[in-house]
Amino acid sequence: MKARKLLMIPGPIEFEPEVMQAMGTPTTSHVAPDFVQSFGHALDMMKEVWMAPKGQPFVVAGSGTLAMDMAAANLVEDGDSVLVLSTGYFGERYADLLRRYTGDVDVLRAEQGDVVEVERIEEQLKKKNYKLLTFTHVDTSTAVLNDPRAIRRLGQKYGVLTVLDGVCSVAGEEIRQEEWGIDVAFTASQKAIGVPPGLALLVASPKAMDVWKSRKTPVPNYYADWKNWLPIMEAYGNRQPAYFGTPAVNLVQALEVSLKLILQEGMENRFQRHRKTGKAFREAMKAGGLTMIPSRDEVAANTLSAPYYPDGVDGKKFLGQVNKEGIILAGGLLADIKTQYFRVGHMGAVNRSDLLATVGAIETGLRQGGHSMEAGLMLKHAQQVLDQE
Ligand code: PMP
Repeated sequence: MKARKLLMIPGPIEFEPEVMQAMGTPTTSHVAPDFVQSFGHALDMMKEVWMAPKGQPFVVAGSGTLAMDMAAANLVEDGDSVLVLSTGYFGERYADLLRRYTGDVDVLRAEQGDVVEVERIEEQLKKKNYKLLTFTHVDTSTAVLNDPRAIRRLGQKYGVLTVLDGVCSVAGEEIRQEEWGIDVAFTASQKAIGVPPGLALLVASPKAMDVWKSRKTPVPNYYADWKNWLPIMEAYGNRQPAYFGTPAVNLVQALEVSLKLILQEGMENRFQRHRKTGKAFREAMKAGGLTMIPSRDEVAANTLSAPYYPDGVDGKKFLGQVNKEGIILAGGLLADIKTQYFRVGHMGAVNRSDLLATVGAIETGLRQGGHSMEAGLMLKHAQQVLDQE
């Protein structure tokens, strides 16, 4: 029997074999001509994946939290007002992080499982002259999906820069950074971008770069300062070697491979595939009588899902059973309800067989945990959605 498990957590995810091959090639010099080509190509392709042809991409070794830090450190100065929309754990993290840069951080919290209503955001924007408005496209703790269009309309109306935390959305959920007027959109390599953990990836709009250039005070964070990184990104973009901090050579090469695969699939196909996968998973859970944290389908992410355990099912035992079936799932993350729900990532390279294997293992785990349900019921509903044109 194969011992390998299927990693179905919301990041790191399953990676394509070609990406893993790039990780395993002998490491070259960061100024070698072929590496310079790879880095430059990856930067160009990021603009296509983010749909931001005029954007400035940054690729820096670090996790998604570094990308959050980079946007905050470069765009916020002490005394600036920032508004954070929180739909879970990562909204709270952003507020916490932003307080390192300014004392004036306001948070609008959504009801659990929902987004912050547009009217509430507008009411708040009328009260104060905010410089930055941040939101989590998909909060990985709740699987709640925000609509970036509604938020950026307000950002533009009130002259506020919008920052989209896309760590659990970029290259999975629909994002059209330039058309939608999002000023900063960032992610980390280990999610729908499909590269092992270790890269912070960010694209800034020309407006965001102008705001950074007209800062009155230096960026109080050495590693995150765009002053150090912009010349490097510009050089590699022009196929010239440059050095500030040694790039994660193999990760950057793997990024080039993964972005190529993403663009080969095509962004529209990819958005559509994620929508279908997300729906298939949700329909399967609903058929089995499970409820989910997102209170309705319109605010449910397509990159991951967060179902509650049904009554009587012990979460720890359930996750152990599913693991025995060969599938790794994640437990809850929101402190208050941590033991009441689990999380399943279904983004990036996840294919039909992976999804069905996961749904099958969940079904087995639930039935063994005492949840009464006809065998195959969840699978049938997932297949029905997946079979639709
Ligand atoms: N934002 C969101 C929405 C995330 O899901 C995560 C990671 N799960 C982060 C930020 C932080 O990323 P990292 O763990 O790579 O630092």
